[in-house]
Amino acid sequence: MLFSDVLVSQELKQLLINTVRNQRVSHAQLFSAQPGTHALGLAIAYAQYINCSHRTDADACGVCPSCVKYRNLAHPDLYFFFPNALTARVKKDNESASFYQEWREICKETNALFSLDDWSEKLDIANKQPAINTNDISRILEAQIAKPYEAEYKVFIIWMAEKISSKMGEKLLKCLEEPDGKTLFILISENNDQLLPTIISRLQLVKINKPNTEDFVEIVSRKLSCSRDEAIDIASLTDNNLSDALNRKERETTEQHHFGRFVSMMRSAYRIYYFKDPEKVIFPETVALIKELETLGRERQKSFLRYALVLTRKCILSNCNASSLVKSSSEEAAWLANFHPFINIRNGEAVMNALNEAITNVEQNVHAGILFTDLILILGQLIRSGDERLQ
Ligand SMILES: [Zn+2]
Repeated sequence: MLFSDVLVSQELKQLLINTVRNQRVSHAQLFSAQPGTHALGLAIAYAQYINCSHRTDADACGVCPSCVKYRNLAHPDLYFFFPNALTARVKKDNESASFYQEWREICKETNALFSLDDWSEKLDIANKQPAINTNDISRILEAQIAKPYEAEYKVFIIWMAEKISSKMGEKLLKCLEEPDGKTLFILISENNDQLLPTIISRLQLVKINKPNTEDFVEIVSRKLSCSRDEAIDIASLTDNNLSDALNRKERETTEQHHFGRFVSMMRSAYRIYYFKDPEKVIFPETVALIKELETLGRERQKSFLRYALVLTRKCILSNCNASSLVKSSSEEAAWLANFHPFINIRNGEAVMNALNEAITNVEQNVHAGILFTDLILILGQLIRSGDERLQ
């Protein structure tokens, strides 16, 4: 990965280039990234630049033996650690190294710009929440004391470092305190408040912010070969999230599925209120929906609930004569036109709270069948309490 392929500001690239030119490369750095930014790409480009034997003032050469190995993410002194879990293929003792093939594939497919949801889908890990586990930490401790094979710097890139448990974080702390030779740790995190404060205090902070709308529009219109107006729409739909925008095709399919589920969930909730008879509460469609949601896997369940939050916000805005703020696909817009009165200022906040609580419950491994049944029952009550005709 060259700096020229990385979708962050030139100032940020220059800042990192200067650390190399001034021989002030800090051995442990925290790339504190806003969601959807090209932090992983930047970390790889930085490591490649440091180890390039013919680097220029602007970039790595791209052709020296080190650069060639970096391009294939196959340099023996480049280590990746990332959240992982047991899968259909890896049935025990999972660690990052078990998934290097999938990791190289997704990095290649997306130019190293993807979300944790994308990665969980790639691993197809159903209901498990991926984590950086004890095997990974042991591997880091081992590799850290070993001599580099050939590079000047051994590089450890730890992606989504917030997925290290605090117990494991304490073990890692030792490495960060006592670096061995020319070792570079780059931890990438989107949620610093989930990292141990003692870890954060050991790391040089590099902030990676979302591009401003002007830069975002330039990048997206170039990468997707779309018009400026289209790119402005995408900026507003994705909240300047580059990963979402550039993987938009897949995202659109996912959103279509989520939309179908959301409609079905609200129809189920509405019927509960409408029929009022507990004997008739659970309809075949509701049962099918709950079964489908159960099989989604936790990351996709959360992604569905986050999508439900977005549609809830759209309903509330439509009720406040703020439809101009609502960007929707034509399918969503047609449905919202009829449905939006049911989620309004009387019950909107409570609906959002219920969805947020469901996200927390997914994270805490509450049984999905119970969780989504409860959610539908609560939504039914809330739709009823928000109905103006019953006030
Ligand atoms: Zn090179």
